[in-house]
Amino acid sequence: MFEKVALDKESLRKEFSKNYKDYYSTKLFDEMGFNRHTCRICGRNFWSINERDTCEDASHTEYSFFKAKKKDISYTEMWKKFSNFFKKNGHEEIGRYPVVSRWRRDLFFTIASIQDFQRIENGIMGFEYSANPLVVPQICLRFGDIENTGVTGRHFTSFMMAGQHAFEWPKKGYWRDRTIELNYKFLTEHIGVKKEDLVYNEDVWAMGDFSEFGPCLESFANGLELVNSVFTQFESSNGSVKEFRGKVVDVGWGFERLLWFYTGYDTAYEAVFKNIINKIEKKSSIEFDKGMFAKFAKHSSEIDFTEKGSDKVEAELLKKLRISSDDYDKKVKPMQALYAVLDHSRTLLFAISDGALPSNIGGGYNLRVILRRALSFIDEYRLGIDMSEIAEMHAEELKGLYPELKDNLELFSKVIGIERKRYASTRENSAKIIERVIGKGGTVGVKELRMLYESNGIAPEMISAAAAKKGIRIDVPRDAYEGIIKGDFTREKEKKGIELDLSDFKKTEQLYYKFAEKSDSKVLYSGKGHIVLDKTPFYPEGGGQEADHGTIGGAKVVDVQKYGDVIVHFVDGKEPKKGESVKCVVDHERRQRLMVHHTATHLINATVRKVIGKHAWQEGTRKEEDKAHIDITHYDKLYDKDIESIEDSANGSLLNGIKVTISDMDRGDAEGKYGFSIYQGHGVPSKRMRIVVIEDLAGSLIDAEACGGLHVSGKEYSIGMVKILGTSRVHDGVDRIDFVAGKPALKHFQESFSQLKSISQSLNSELYGTRARAEQLLADKLSLEKRNAKMLEDMAAAIAESGSVAGALDKAVSEKKDSAEVKLDCEKHTMRKVIGILTARFDKLTIIAVGRSGEVLASRGKNSSAGAIDVLNKRFGKKLKGGGGRDYAEGRIEQ
Ligand SMILES: [Zn+2]
Ligand SMILES: [Zn+2]
Repeated sequence: MFEKVALDKESLRKEFSKNYKDYYSTKLFDEMGFNRHTCRICGRNFWSINERDTCEDASHTEYSFFKAKKKDISYTEMWKKFSNFFKKNGHEEIGRYPVVSRWRRDLFFTIASIQDFQRIENGIMGFEYSANPLVVPQICLRFGDIENTGVTGRHFTSFMMAGQHAFEWPKKGYWRDRTIELNYKFLTEHIGVKKEDLVYNEDVWAMGDFSEFGPCLESFANGLELVNSVFTQFESSNGSVKEFRGKVVDVGWGFERLLWFYTGYDTAYEAVFKNIINKIEKKSSIEFDKGMFAKFAKHSSEIDFTEKGSDKVEAELLKKLRISSDDYDKKVKPMQALYAVLDHSRTLLFAISDGALPSNIGGGYNLRVILRRALSFIDEYRLGIDMSEIAEMHAEELKGLYPELKDNLELFSKVIGIERKRYASTRENSAKIIERVIGKGGTVGVKELRMLYESNGIAPEMISAAAAKKGIRIDVPRDAYEGIIKGDFTREKEKKGIELDLSDFKKTEQLYYKFAEKSDSKVLYSGKGHIVLDKTPFYPEGGGQEADHGTIGGAKVVDVQKYGDVIVHFVDGKEPKKGESVKCVVDHERRQRLMVHHTATHLINATVRKVIGKHAWQEGTRKEEDKAHIDITHYDKLYDKDIESIEDSANGSLLNGIKVTISDMDRGDAEGKYGFSIYQGHGVPSKRMRIVVIEDLAGSLIDAEACGGLHVSGKEYSIGMVKILGTSRVHDGVDRIDFVAGKPALKHFQESFSQLKSISQSLNSELYGTRARAEQLLADKLSLEKRNAKMLEDMAAAIAESGSVAGALDKAVSEKKDSAEVKLDCEKHTMRKVIGILTARFDKLTIIAVGRSGEVLASRGKNSSAGAIDVLNKRFGKKLKGGGGRDYAEGRIEQ
């Protein structure tokens, strides 16, 4: 299949369209009289009832669905309309997934409804779903069109993709005929699309790497694309294409657009945010000229600010519409700003509710960009609105569909408050730095931009905006922050390189999950310090837990790593031979400590969420023999009182007793029972998952995580206690908590105590009086130092005034010399004081002072013409070892 077809969209489009009867035609097209045409502008093939020579793409058709009398329907009511239709037609409705995509590690945010059901395992995409077919009100976040949001009338950074999905055709689900039948029915009977206006464009959909692809039909009406029906029919690997195992119907309805089309407003923003806009209109000072905005909005589809030259397009459009730039600035732009603020607030509310936070890196960077964009719009256009208030309105408006938003308003306000302060101080501190960068003009290098961003928090937009204000053009490369935006903080750590072909080995049997510490194993490979066994009790490094150590035969195990299904042991010493049977022994004490630290990490993670809030997600962990740490997301720094509460609460749980149970669960069951918080950093989503649960002795849940690590199940008492040693900011928005548990915790207390004891003995104080004693000693030391300094001053003054010194200098002055030499019988630091006093008094002289053991100093009075270093050189020649300048020099005389 497709032997001669290149895997790119253009070639596939040609291939599908050549065989359009197999890939695009449907029963409904025949029944309703849809015919196939080719667009004279873009060359695409499409289906319509009316004869026509252009398709309905927005770039060559004006919007023509605006209504004089708008239809009234809320966001939630519209969803009911949608889900009721599909429920009547055999679909089940399920709840939305989080907008933070914790089950797909390659993406920060949920960008499409189908993502809810995609599971990548060993590089292969599979699907998991709780109903078939189904519909889901999935909120998606996309940040590719930030500049357009608020302006074009149709772009959002968050939107609902009303997902309609059917899986496993032909065994289950349905395929093209049923999909288009439902599509046609819903659009014509419930959304108000006239069948003559309905156009289906033929296209191709593919994953970025063409691992999955298929034909798709886009439904257009009156210039607006309403929905794309994708038929995932093929999969490819290494260039060979085959039919997809269980074919998937993936229909992503642009819900905002449905609502827009149905209500007939001038912009999608009005359709979606109507109630909120009405509320704001009453209290805001913005001049709402809806007529003028409508005039502009009708054509705003022509503008795309992510494309070059868009400013010119905008200017020409204004000219065409006879909108003066003054009117545009005063009446249109503030409304665009308001719409952007409404969109951005909603996006942030969903993101923060689902556990994301604005930061400098990763997905958090996008959130900070839109947050700052919204804040600066509010300031610049004096919108007189507050983001927290708007978030409240969103939560109220959406409570029927997303009741969870209301629970997160307090957190939202906190985060916005802190971010606002941070933004203000960044702006203040960075003004000078920006000035310097602007001064140079031209293009700012990617490296410099990165540096400015990472160390000063100065975003590229801030630089170009400040420059533009001064009429200077600074080019900021568009890809400047790609690395930061994508970040590498969710990427797994690089595995140790290994020169060994592992493809012939079978899966290593993992005895460590049965807590085995010994085994008789067969050596499958041995050489260059690497050993592969048929089965192993050694836990390979993973999930932040270090590898087990121990012995294999006579060799010492120093590291263990897992490569796919094969476990490789790194050893020191005599390697056993291939085929040999060997005794494996795990270092029990080390294993025990690693397990203690791992379970304690879960406990602290749960406690952190309890104490500072459920926005605190685990970003990374490390469990070693003697210490451990956990990195958590937090919008503020961790204060001492937070740490105290976390420590108290975690130890409280331990003192009351905890129970750790580990079980394998179906992924769907685990997500359903414990929620998405099971994905705390290192759980790899797969069909069956190992779930580690911590409960108190009464059976109340403390923590549940998907985790492949080893835990002290049955030996919970060995954790004993936890002690937090300190915290630090790993990077913006992420705090590290260093701690110890079990024996290392006990050792920490013992060592601290013995330190304290020996200090108290040295200070000759009571054990708990050490602090007062130390403070007293410090105070004594300070007063002594003061007295010392005073004595030194007095002594220096006395020496300076003595006859042998002052007399000699008086003589030199009277002889009109420009330099003179004196002998000083004191320490070097006293000499410095003396020569200072003398130079001030005999300001026409450059004075040389010679000490008792060959030290020399020279200092120039402010009215002397002889340089200090010159005088010294002249006087001592090559004997002088030292240096200095014209005003002051010092050294010693070598005899
Ligand atoms: Zn076209
Ligand atoms: Zn874990």
